[in-house]
Amino acid sequence: MFWKKPNNSESLIKRKPTKSGMTVLMIPDSGESSKLRLRWTWLIPAAILGLCIGIGAVGAPLLLAASVKTNVSLFTERTKLQLEKADLERRLGLEQGKVQSLTAKTQDFGQRLLDLESRLGNVETRAGVSKVERASVKPGGGANNLAIKDPFEMLSTLDTLLGQSDSRLKKTLDPLDSVMRREAAVPAGFPTPGRITSKFGTRVSPRGGYVERHTGWDIATNMGAPVRVTAPGVVETAGWTSIGYGLHIVINHGYGYKTLYGHLSKLNVNVGDRVSTNDLIGFVGSTGNSTGPHLHYEVRLGNTPINPGSYLFRDRPKFDSLEIK
Ligand SMILES: [Zn+2]
Repeated sequence: MFWKKPNNSESLIKRKPTKSGMTVLMIPDSGESSKLRLRWTWLIPAAILGLCIGIGAVGAPLLLAASVKTNVSLFTERTKLQLEKADLERRLGLEQGKVQSLTAKTQDFGQRLLDLESRLGNVETRAGVSKVERASVKPGGGANNLAIKDPFEMLSTLDTLLGQSDSRLKKTLDPLDSVMRREAAVPAGFPTPGRITSKFGTRVSPRGGYVERHTGWDIATNMGAPVRVTAPGVVETAGWTSIGYGLHIVINHGYGYKTLYGHLSKLNVNVGDRVSTNDLIGFVGSTGNSTGPHLHYEVRLGNTPINPGSYLFRDRPKFDSLEIK
């Protein structure tokens, strides 16, 4: 291969290919050919115009489709949001109803708590909790706290009140428990129904004409009548004695209280047994220094016989089944 220097005519054609245009030669199947001269100054704008028309023809439908799609999507979204808004409004209405109900219940609960506080104050007084101690744990605000409208704030306040009441209850229950146990230890009621034939104090002995000190009450009744204990306790004595009681039982009720049941015909308990109020402990007899079937009943405090009269007619406490300490 070698390089060939172009001749003058070829180099002129290369340097001046055209006169800023092009010629289209149209050759028909028959007849003379014809030329169509097109100038670049026409062709370029025409090409750009054609390109624009082409882009417009293809792009416009696409843009239109995209716009329609966007509008449909927005409409769907708007409808969905409207439905959600309606649902939220409905649920909000329900929630508001619940809040109102909760508020009413909370206020009722608060009022009941205040009532409980009042009753607790009475119990504290009975249990011997000092007023100074009560003042130190008294909740602040009292009934004014129930004026709070916000149920959540009120619940928080009630929670605080409950905590304080719990503290007060703990401070009160121990002394109250002691009071209840002491009350339960006090003998109450008749150990057996019958006729009072002799009371506490000095008397002329039924066996001989001399004056003696009678340390209990005598209750005359049928031989073998059941004898029931008048307070909870532990059997301290159950057996025979030669000092006059004959077959007898002594129950220790705690807090210094004891009861004695004398002249029995038969025992139903043993020493060390724990008994509850109204338990059957023995049967009426006439053992020991006795002139006929009757129960000799004594109440002792600190081992000293005291007049059982007021104890026989004392109402039994509702909590008398408590065990003694
Ligand atoms: Zn007697």
